This record gives sequence, C-alpha cells and structure tokens, in this order.
Amino acid sequence: MSSLQTVLYQSRATLLPDAEVIGGALDDILAGARARNASDRISGVLVYADGMFFQLLEGPADALQATMGRIAADRRHKGVRVLRHAPADARMFPDWPLACVSAANLRESVMGSGNGASMDLERLPADVFAPLLRAILTAPGVPNLATMLRSA
Ligand code: FAD
Repeated sequence: MSSLQTVLYQSRATLLPDAEVIGGALDDILAGARARNASDRISGVLVYADGMFFQLLEGPADALQATMGRIAADRRHKGVRVLRHAPADARMFPDWPLACVSAANLRESVMGSGNGASMDLERLPADVFAPLLRAILTAPGVPNLATMLRSA
C-alpha cells in the first residue's frame, strides 16, 4: 500500500478578483474536488485569501501525486509552488475530503481580531499551516496564532 504523505502548496488565482466570480469558482472547485478526494482517500483544506490559494492535501503517495498533477495543470490558478511535501504518520484532517477555511477566519487567527493590517500568508512557516487550519476547523472560537505559538 502507498505511504501517507502531505503536501502544502500556494498558487495565484487567475480568476477575476470579484466576490461573485470567486465564490462561484470556489463552489465549483470544492464540489468536484470533494467527490474525487473522497474516492481517492485524500483529505485536506483549501484556503482562498487575497488572490492566493493555499491548499494542504494528505493521502496515499500515488493518489496525491495524481491529484497534484491535475491541480497543477488547472488554468484557474498559476504559479503552483510546493511549500512542503513530507511523509505523515497520521492525517490531520481525517474528516474533511476538502474543508474550506475562509480568509476572514484565517486573518482573524493570524492577525488577531480587529487588526486591519494585511496578512502575509506567504511568510508563515510551512509547518504552522496544518495545526493552524486544524485549530480553525475544530475550535469553537477562532484561535489566535500568537497564542498557539506561545503554547507550542
Ligand atoms: P477537467 O475537469 O477535465 O478540466 C480540465 C481543465 O479545464 C482544468 O484543468 C481547468 O483548467 C478547466 N476547468 C475545469 N472545470 C472548470 C470550471 N468549472 N471553470 C473553469 N475552468 C474549468 N481536484 C481534486 O481532485 N482534488 C482537489 O483537492 C482539488 N483542489 C483544487 C484546488 C484548486 C485551487 C483548483 C484551482 C482546482 C482543484 N481541483 C482539485 C480541480 C483539479 O484541478 C481538476 O480540475 C480536477 O481534479 C479534474 O481534473 P481533470 O483532469 O478531469 O480536469
């Protein structure tokens, strides 16, 4: 059986930066991806923030490679850059074929509520993404990154 791996990448959306266009495209991407990922035993999270996609996927190495090949060829984004690709002992997102975390949740978690400063996700260490996204998906409130890093 193929070993469990995890991939995190970032890319730049080629879609018009219009809320309706992005919302419709995200619905399309999520609907198709969730069905495919579930049958390929892939789980993960997709984030769209400020024209950028960040996606973390985990699953058997062969299925993950095939999925990443299709994703990299997708014209709805460009400049796919893998930030982390590593073996994994266990899944961080076993219950999500593809969860979606909103930019607002992420912004609040990274910057703290009420902080209007822009968020530079590209500068976040790659190994912070998985715990951060998992905390956002499982915590009742929005966790703050600074608090998470302090208690790590
Ligand atoms: P096809 O469905 O044959 O599409 C071929 C090409 O047509 C695509 O590459 C794309 O450029 C274009 N296209 C397809 N549908 C649309 C549309 N509705 N609007 C505009 N252009 C379109 N797939 C997964 O299986 N799992 C994932 O986790 C996943 N995550 C994704 C994350 C992002 C940010 C993006 C942009 C896409 C994601 N996809 C995911 C979709 C993936 O890129 C493929 O489109 C999908 O897997 C189907 O592959 P295919 O080769 O059959 O493509």
